[in-house]
Amino acid sequence: MSYYPLTSIPDYYGIDSLLTEEHLLIRQSVRDWIESFVMPKIDDAAQHHTDIPDLMKELGKIGALGPYIPEEYGGSGLDQISYGIIMQELERGDSAVRSAASVQSSLVMFPINEFGSEEQKKKYLPQLASGEMIGAFGLTEPNHGSDPGSMETYFVDNGDHYLLNGAKMWITNAPLCDIAVVWGKNEDGKVQGLIVERGFEGFSTPETQNKWSLRASKTGELVFNNVKVPKENLLPNVIGLKGPLSCLNSARYGISWGVIGAAIDCYCTALQYAKERKQFGKPIASYQLQQKKLAEFLTEITKAQLLCLQLGNLKNAHKATPAQISMAKRNNVKMAIEIARESRQILGGMGIMGEFPMMRHAANLESVITYEGTHDIHLLITGMDITGINAF
Ligand SMILES: Cc1cc2nc3c(=O)[nH]c(=O)nc-3n(C[C@H](O)[C@H](O)[C@H](O)COP(=O)(O)OP(=O)(O)OC[C@H]3O[C@@H](n4cnc5c(N)ncnc54)[C@H](O)[C@@H]3O)c2cc1C
Repeated sequence: MSYYPLTSIPDYYGIDSLLTEEHLLIRQSVRDWIESFVMPKIDDAAQHHTDIPDLMKELGKIGALGPYIPEEYGGSGLDQISYGIIMQELERGDSAVRSAASVQSSLVMFPINEFGSEEQKKKYLPQLASGEMIGAFGLTEPNHGSDPGSMETYFVDNGDHYLLNGAKMWITNAPLCDIAVVWGKNEDGKVQGLIVERGFEGFSTPETQNKWSLRASKTGELVFNNVKVPKENLLPNVIGLKGPLSCLNSARYGISWGVIGAAIDCYCTALQYAKERKQFGKPIASYQLQQKKLAEFLTEITKAQLLCLQLGNLKNAHKATPAQISMAKRNNVKMAIEIARESRQILGGMGIMGEFPMMRHAANLESVITYEGTHDIHLLITGMDITGINAF
């Protein structure tokens, strides 16, 4: 259970009045699920660097996997603001929980829905939506992170199948995945997506050990050693980097909302603690230095909430540009990591303990500020959008 009453979760600018009844119901149900299913387990999972058992099936049950995927393929057909709200509530629990839902929704279901054949959609999407099947997304390689266009993974036409070779690194859920959407180069050097299933000969998924961040999430490699991929597993309707980049746009949008949840968890914990903890005979909340911190946290959270709501409106209208999404991802992750770090100080020594969430969120957000485009790369995207000059 959270350390603070859920009624203290802030809505300082009355943003709830801009949400629909459905948005508020979705938020409440995910919030309740986080309290009952995630909060009691998350510290233990993170401390022991292990995943939460049955997480994906539970996320499927609450409709958090592919919420905007059409109902005919097992999704809920919800709008983009609903998707954002779900991500926010999940990340109030932990970035690992939100990452699991982000990858499955935006990086696996999204490309299959957007670029897949009818057979692929029917075969994979319903099982991914229910969490019975776990997906991974393979873009990053050992030698190519920020520059995925230089990827080395490739496949060649080998008669009735493709032969896939290469390796992907830093892949969320790799050790658990049943399928992976893998981006590689065809014989013309053009990027295309393939659906690789666990069990294909030559495909392995070694786990990345000893992470200090996202410890309740499994990360690993995807290794392809002459893997025979059936031709019907090629995503037929996209060619070039715009395939993976459009997935990243969807995931980055969700991250912009998600990290507000982590920031809220830290802010609410710090506020509650500051009112209860007495030093020099008075609650530490009565001191101006602590009030300054709390006031700044709430200001930054409120700004981030407004940014996301308008970005969600643009996304619903299919008008959100990749540069607008970059701006929100960059701003909001920085906001959240700073609140996690500063709020930990309000708890003094207690702030380093597992009973409180700050160290866990701060460590998680080190990954979030790096994945899906680093903080620097999003700045360069904004710079290019402003000036028209590519500074990469
Ligand atoms: C926990 C975790 C989970 C992940 N999950 C996935 C996943 O599921 N699927 C997937 O495909 N990837 C995943 N990633 C990979 C992630 O997207 C990459 O780590 C990220 O894109 C950065 O790549 P890199 O680590 O190779 O860093 P690099 O690209 O080597 O960057 C190193 C530094 O150089 C800077 N830099 C790079 N280029 C420039 C430039 N032109 N100008 C100025 N500075 C520059 C960067 O900002 C960064 O600070 C995950 C990463 C982590 C940590």
